[in-house]
Amino acid sequence: MNLFVVTGASRGLGHAIARRLLLPGNYVIGLSRSSSEQLSKEASLSGARYESVEVDLSRVDSLADQMEQILQKAAVESLKSACLINNAGVLSPTGPIENAPAEEIAYHMQVNLTAPIILSSSFIHNTEAWEVPKTIMNISSGAGRKPYSGWSSYCASKAGLDHFTRCVGLEQQDKPYGVRMISVAPGVIDTDMQSYIRSLSEQDFPQKERFIQLKEQGQLSSPEDAADKLLKLLNSGDYGHGDILDVRQ
Ligand code: NAP
Repeated sequence: MNLFVVTGASRGLGHAIARRLLLPGNYVIGLSRSSSEQLSKEASLSGARYESVEVDLSRVDSLADQMEQILQKAAVESLKSACLINNAGVLSPTGPIENAPAEEIAYHMQVNLTAPIILSSSFIHNTEAWEVPKTIMNISSGAGRKPYSGWSSYCASKAGLDHFTRCVGLEQQDKPYGVRMISVAPGVIDTDMQSYIRSLSEQDFPQKERFIQLKEQGQLSSPEDAADKLLKLLNSGDYGHGDILDVRQ
């Protein structure tokens, strides 16, 4: 079986990725605070194995143990490959950083940066002896590479995720079964996160109008199209340790 652990599988891009992975021979585990009934139903018809695990990624102290338990359970199967997709993410707090409550900044960093780092650390540690291809795909954003006024926490957490990826790439590249980690910007996708962006005030996000235009001109990718591009890249194996990629390139 091919193991896939996908964070944020309850809706949006993560949901579409998990759906696309529901194929015979795949074992898909979705991590989020809520679960998707649609995924459970479709899984039972698909020939794939699907499990949803309730995880709050802001509770970072328990994440390493949760990942260890997931991997120990999965290891009972005869696995041909293993992949972690760090997809879950939040945008808020938005607006000038001096107006952001400290607890919202801390929550943001826990979900967007600390959680993927801890999950990756535990994934690499607990699969060290697995002699199969192993990958971690971090879902980043163009905002991690280009600054946006009003999105300083988001830009910082995604830039951090990219740089974390580069460093782990160096650590893993010479190992015989090293985990190949990449960080990929998925494009602009029609999800709850985009609805939230369009609801922001001009003062908090001066580029708001551009995102309204993208929606009105039909230029947002569907979550399914974005998932297809990401999985095509993943399946191609056409990337190096620590690569920073964008599905639009
Ligand atoms: P979304 O529709 O808002 O979905 C976010 C997902 O993250 C949900 O499944 C949610 O699950 C999960 N999540 C949020 N907080 C969590 C927490 N504390 N614990 C566990 N899970 C949590 O977002 P999206 O647009 O699909 O974004 C997915 C990824 O793509 C994010 O990393 C985002 O930064 C990136 N991205 C999106 C766009 C875009 O245009 N949409 C562009 C570039 C990058 P629960 O609420 O059930 O916990």
